[in-house]
Amino acid sequence: MSASLLDQAAAAASGAAANTTTDAPTGDGQPAATVALTALATGPEWHAAAHRCAAIAAQHADAVDREARFPVEAFDALKGERLLSAMVPTAYGGAGLSLAEIGTICETLAQGCASTAMIYAMHQIQVACIDSHRGASAWQARLLAQLAEQQWLLASATSEETIGGNMRTSACSVELDGARFRIEKLAPTISYGAHADGILVTARRTADAAASDQLLIVALRADTQLERRGGWDAMGMRGTCSEGFRLVATGLAEQILATPFADIADQTMLPVSHTLWASVWTGIAIDAVNRAKAFFRAQARAKPGTMPPAGLRLAEAVGLLQMMQARLSVALDAARAAHQARNGATPADAPLAAMLGFASDMNTLKTSISATALQVVQQVLMICGMAGYKNGTPYSVGRHLRDLHSAPLMINNDRIAQNIASLLLAQRPAAPGRP
Ligand SMILES: Cc1cc2nc3c(=O)[nH]c(=O)nc-3n(C[C@H](O)[C@H](O)[C@H](O)COP(=O)(O)OP(=O)(O)OC[C@H]3O[C@@H](n4cnc5c(N)ncnc54)[C@H](O)[C@@H]3O)c2cc1C
Repeated sequence: MSASLLDQAAAAASGAAANTTTDAPTGDGQPAATVALTALATGPEWHAAAHRCAAIAAQHADAVDREARFPVEAFDALKGERLLSAMVPTAYGGAGLSLAEIGTICETLAQGCASTAMIYAMHQIQVACIDSHRGASAWQARLLAQLAEQQWLLASATSEETIGGNMRTSACSVELDGARFRIEKLAPTISYGAHADGILVTARRTADAAASDQLLIVALRADTQLERRGGWDAMGMRGTCSEGFRLVATGLAEQILATPFADIADQTMLPVSHTLWASVWTGIAIDAVNRAKAFFRAQARAKPGTMPPAGLRLAEAVGLLQMMQARLSVALDAARAAHQARNGATPADAPLAAMLGFASDMNTLKTSISATALQVVQQVLMICGMAGYKNGTPYSVGRHLRDLHSAPLMINNDRIAQNIASLLLAQRPAAPGRP
């Protein structure tokens, strides 16, 4: 029964994993990072806990990046603070935090280690999909409770070989045999797949179904075989360990979310992903700008009474960063309003124009924040010059830049821009005199 499956996975999570992967090495013995987090932990307990975890993540960020290894120390801390279940409803043992609060945690973590923040964001996206679309499934409810109890980490396998970044189509399909399922997927990228306790996998409903008729399945570690097909020696986000795998998973039919994946993607996965990714990228930019400010102040102190030459660039970087923060804040308001509208009305009641507008806004959020964050850090590099270019100084931003170069590619901005264009075309202006 479902409970036994979950219990098997609990055993796997505590070290008796039955999958075919090997774990990354733990511990790095590296010295603490030169730049510590300066922000004081204020506000509620989860906020202070996020700052404590970010400080630990920052200590190991350079080693995680250099060795392209999973940020073990940061995740031990996150689990210790019970932040992996921060978005799980309180009824199932979580903290029941809102999307905006989770975004704040992502932003805070990203100021210490971008890979840690991105892994945390990707995990919370999976939690949001399960929680929003579990319906009356007892298995999915129990999964959330187990996740909170064991501090499980969830990963995602939406992309697929031959399909690329178009997550709204799948080549692989679910094989149902009575009450059990089996899926086999060639996944080019599963971030931290080898470290996850469960993976949410997209697949076609049946072997005969159209490529876009997809389901989302929760594959548990104990019943999943992962055969490595590619490594992760990447430009940035090196700690995400986003390797390629042949994934073979079995389990109970109840592990398949009842909601079609098209709805899960539109209502939850896309808006939550774009919001939390944007929070991560904003956090990276905040840390870079803090380094630029420190550099600028040091320059000013060295020559009292003179304005350092990079003043204009710093003003521009700060202005761009504030625009990112404002854009993110607008997106969070829109996501909250859409969530309330969905809960208060049937989907058929939601006006089509509002749905199209929300979808295009969530897409422009991703394309604009990903591009602007890179501009900000590029400005910081110009401000700090060689001190920013070299690794290991208090003003280094090489890792920030390399990590941020993943942002426009993580679902290619060109692909998203085409979707935005289609949505804008469908948003016909209302005729004069009509609502
Ligand atoms: C750090 C990181 C972590 C990731 N983690 C995961 C994960 O955990 N799970 C997962 O499933 N995936 C993950 N991915 C993969 C990601 O979600 C996309 O699948 C991937 O970014 C798309 O890869 P691609 O650029 O090779 O493919 P495609 O999107 O197929 O694009 C290939 C190229 O074709 C062009 N192109 C394609 N379509 C269009 C279009 N419509 N308009 C214009 N140009 C187009 C672009 O130039 C693009 O470079 C991750 C990616 C990154 C960077």
